[in-house]
Amino acid sequence: MPEAESVTDPAASCEDLVKVFRSATGETHALRGIGLEVHPGALTVVAGPSGSGKSSLLTMLGARDRPSAGTLTVLGGDIGAASTRDLRQLRRRRIGFVPQRSALGVFPHLRAVDQLRQVAGWRGARTDDPADALAAVGLGHRADHLPLALSGGEQQRLAVALALAGSPALIVADEPTAELDHANADVVVDALLAAAAAGAAVVISSHDERIMHRADRLLRLRHGVLSSETTRRDTTGVIDATGRLQLPPAVLDLFPSRRVVVEIGADGVRLRAPEEES
Ligand code: ADP
Ligand code: MG
Repeated sequence: MPEAESVTDPAASCEDLVKVFRSATGETHALRGIGLEVHPGALTVVAGPSGSGKSSLLTMLGARDRPSAGTLTVLGGDIGAASTRDLRQLRRRRIGFVPQRSALGVFPHLRAVDQLRQVAGWRGARTDDPADALAAVGLGHRADHLPLALSGGEQQRLAVALALAGSPALIVADEPTAELDHANADVVVDALLAAAAAGAAVVISSHDERIMHRADRLLRLRHGVLSSETTRRDTTGVIDATGRLQLPPAVLDLFPSRRVVVEIGADGVRLRAPEEES
């Protein structure tokens, strides 16, 4: 049967993605089997409490790190199998990345406007106007400043401008509004949404409810697993590779005893809280 609508390839996707950090004191399972897709033309927001694995996930989606297990495909490349050289090229040319607490931009010794020129050049977009790119994040008046002469919030907005420079296919930003007031956070989200509207796949992490509301897709992480996925249409729970069902937080609140009665009917499966013992 022919497909009813054409499906665009995801810019990034992963299956059963696992990240384990090993240190002298033990192992941390930061991601425990994540499956997701990041689509072009959309803003995907990854939300979750501190320590839930947001940075670990975004670092891998940005091709800055490799999975411990599972598969990760970014812009057609298998990140687990790619050579270090291929990864570096992919990152430079095709992925805009804002690390968490980015401070000094890509080149701490260059003026803001020169950093933008350099990064746009890597991406083969020498015609981009760096002044426009700075103005888009409200930094038009800071073009000649070195990163050290910028405030924390201005440094964060410079990092976003650099990620957007040269219109990369994939833009990954880890809490890009964490240090910004509401007005500047809105400016940054507007710029990220404009990049998505122009066709980029944009994925950011945030704890900010106001930003979650502006997402095309909202993915919630908890303890290294996806707990729910919300699109503009609906919210779905997530079933992991071993069959465990993750309920959205609002639904989880209906099961304070963390026990559930599962009833299988002709028209579906019903979950209800067990009767209280009296
Ligand atoms: P979030 O961004 O949601 O706060 P992270 O991905 O930073 O979460 O961290 C998830 C877990 O992995 C945490 O327990 C954190 O301490 C651990 N972790 C992250 N990075 C490293 C690392 N480089 N080495 C060891 N543990 C790490
Ligand atoms: Mg983080």
